[in-house]
Amino acid sequence: MNESCIFCRIVAGSTPATIVAHNEQALAFRDLHPKAPVHVLVIPRRHVTSLAEATDAAELGAMMVLAADVASAEGLVAGGYRVVTNIGADGGQTVPHLHLHVLGGRSMAWPPG
Ligand code: IMP
Repeated sequence: MNESCIFCRIVAGSTPATIVAHNEQALAFRDLHPKAPVHVLVIPRRHVTSLAEATDAAELGAMMVLAADVASAEGLVAGGYRVVTNIGADGGQTVPHLHLHVLGGRSMAWPPG
């Protein structure tokens, strides 16, 4: 738990969020500023700054499984969807707590900007 981290505060329940799914190691909640009709963030319960600092394969696996569970529950499987993580400044990361973006409900462009 990092008191100065907004996503740690969501895990702790001290900052509100619309939580849509969870498992033992990860939590999924709706993005405050959605970039697609469905935009859910999947985070580890532990504070991990980004994928660059991640070392726990089970934790990463739990996040990926939860992302797929969310996509299924949100009805995204038939049309397809995107799972992406931003790392550091050049990657476009603005919140320094590892998160997967689950985006769907519209057609995605490639490459991203
Ligand atoms: P990043 O730019 O990849 O780090 O993504 C951070 C995401 O967190 C952005 O899409 C923000 O809209 C989202 N975000 C920031 N604060 C909150 C919050 O308190 N609740 C939900 N989403 C948030």
